[in-house]
Amino acid sequence: RYPSVRRPVRIGTLTLPHRIVMGSMHLNRETGDPDALAAFYAERAAGGAALIVTGGAAVSRVGAGGAGYGIITEPAHAAPWRTVVDAVHSAGGRIALQLFHAGRYASPAAFGLTPVAPSAVYSRFSDATPAALDEGGIAATIDDFARAAVVARELGFDGVEIMASEGYLLNQFASPVTNLRDDAWGGDAARRRAFPVAVTRAVRDAVGDAPVIVRMSGADLVEGSSTPDEVDALAVALVRAGADAIDVGIGWHEARVPTVQSMVPHGAFTPVAGRIRAALASAPVPVIASNRINTLAQAEQVLTAGEADIVSMARPFLADPHIVAASFAGREAAVTLCIGCNEACIDRSLGTEPVSCTVNPRAGRELEFPLVAASRPSARRVAVVGAGPAGMEAARAATFAGAQVTLFEEAAEIGGQFLLAGAVPGKGDFAALARSFTHVLDETGVGVRTGCAAGPEDVVGFDHVIVATGVVPRRVELPGVERALDYAQAFADLSRVGERVVVIGAGGIAVDLAHLLVEGEDASSFLVEHGLRDGMLPPPRRQVTIMRRHGPIGAGMGLTTRWAAVQAIRRRGVRTLTGVEYRAVEAGGVRIAVDGVEELVEADTVIVAAGQTPRSALAAELSARGIPHTVVGGARNTSGLNAVAAFEEGLRAGDAA
Ligand code: SF4
Repeated sequence: RYPSVRRPVRIGTLTLPHRIVMGSMHLNRETGDPDALAAFYAERAAGGAALIVTGGAAVSRVGAGGAGYGIITEPAHAAPWRTVVDAVHSAGGRIALQLFHAGRYASPAAFGLTPVAPSAVYSRFSDATPAALDEGGIAATIDDFARAAVVARELGFDGVEIMASEGYLLNQFASPVTNLRDDAWGGDAARRRAFPVAVTRAVRDAVGDAPVIVRMSGADLVEGSSTPDEVDALAVALVRAGADAIDVGIGWHEARVPTVQSMVPHGAFTPVAGRIRAALASAPVPVIASNRINTLAQAEQVLTAGEADIVSMARPFLADPHIVAASFAGREAAVTLCIGCNEACIDRSLGTEPVSCTVNPRAGRELEFPLVAASRPSARRVAVVGAGPAGMEAARAATFAGAQVTLFEEAAEIGGQFLLAGAVPGKGDFAALARSFTHVLDETGVGVRTGCAAGPEDVVGFDHVIVATGVVPRRVELPGVERALDYAQAFADLSRVGERVVVIGAGGIAVDLAHLLVEGEDASSFLVEHGLRDGMLPPPRRQVTIMRRHGPIGAGMGLTTRWAAVQAIRRRGVRTLTGVEYRAVEAGGVRIAVDGVEELVEADTVIVAAGQTPRSALAAELSARGIPHTVVGGARNTSGLNAVAAFEEGLRAGDAA
């Protein structure tokens, strides 16, 4: 299996045993407990990553991406990395330090500093206008990279990666959008390349023969930025300056083309890596592809197609640290898949909260929740009722904590709301994840009883019960609302939904439902819409309006998801209304008023997607009978509930049961 993935490959002087590397992710844990950080990385090394690239280590204070960034050139921040390096090496892995400078994306306010950049061009992402670097500042910054590279070598890292992508400092120098200079460092494409080339050469000189990877931007996805020819020329120049591998990133943080959201089809951007690989034919070094490559099967395709020499997977290693080892062992069906939600990873990394993973809440907490052999004998018997996100995770965690677990689910399949989400364009991985839990729970010896709506009698005799019975759609009081479907009915049977639809509610579920109603389950129109595939966009399948009383459309969705999802449905013709006063559901639609102006929004189908309420009957019965239990997820509370909270509550309850 995976013959292309399994072929060893060299990055400079470093030989990797196969072609899957764990890509860089800022964790907001870099300045925290070094033992915890070491445990995080060591588990991923043990899980089979051929090489780990750390989260960005700022080369200077002014280059830090935020308060959670470590400054590698400062001894207090550098020293703890030795613990990490040693742990990864002890686990049999290899680790490279990413050298990072955010430029105009930096947030150095905590140090009383103003961000710096090639030119003073305002950034919408950081909401700041940087100061343009002068000659002295440029020389000092190049020196910062070189000093950071020396520190990396002294700490025992196996190599370094220079961050020159995603719109950070080196990318800013390369782009005509942010480099407005007319001197040795800007003015035409050759001079815009000068700074990334100088940094690469300085790092090359600083580390001797150790591997140097440059993560460069294959496509900025920002209007007016570098052309493909300019990007290709930069790749050649970086290799000539000493890069041993080119890691191809896609898109700036300011780009308005989604690159990391679930709606982005797997491997959508790998042709960009393929183009750069072709451009490097005269100066061949390994090219690394990344972005939305989720499984080893997808990686194998990318390698076999010749689009890259190595595949970088980042978030999939959060979701399942053992993805490589498990896949090599033929256990791909039990790999916990990244669902592309970003809620516990990228969204947090852009703030200050420590990164984890929605579907693997152990991520970053490996010391708090150590893996224990699932076969550990235990007299403790735990019943979990409900197999949505909270229940699935509770069952998994309880069995790893040594309990004998029975999981009851009244539906024919486990997965709960994830099965509904799995129908939304681009969200097929939600349903696939639920299926993977079937295999995980089977492997770990959980007794799964589907088609069984457990009552109090069914859980008598268990030492503890975890109630994860989930939610039901919230009913709204409105004249005529009995004509409407609820969102669960609509997801379950689209044949009940007509051509013209009004959705009452405009949160995350309503946005997802609208997307499904206009698009169908096919996510491929994304490729056409963003010029990644030739063709015509099919007309929207339905005329859809979503509406709410107050608050923004998509409120409650994640930072990096909401804008992309709302943009997608609006571009597909979905009408979005806020500030709506509801009057009634009528035969011809929904009568509303906006700013006092009454309107009948015509529809042949009205769907209510206005939140949820807990299914709490079982918990109430168990309480009445004095049966010990813990309530988790939506069954406990729907206020602010999301999948991150559901999985985390499941983990904590299962671990404690
Ligand atoms: Fe993937 Fe979501 Fe986990 Fe991030 S939080 S790694 S996107 S599943």
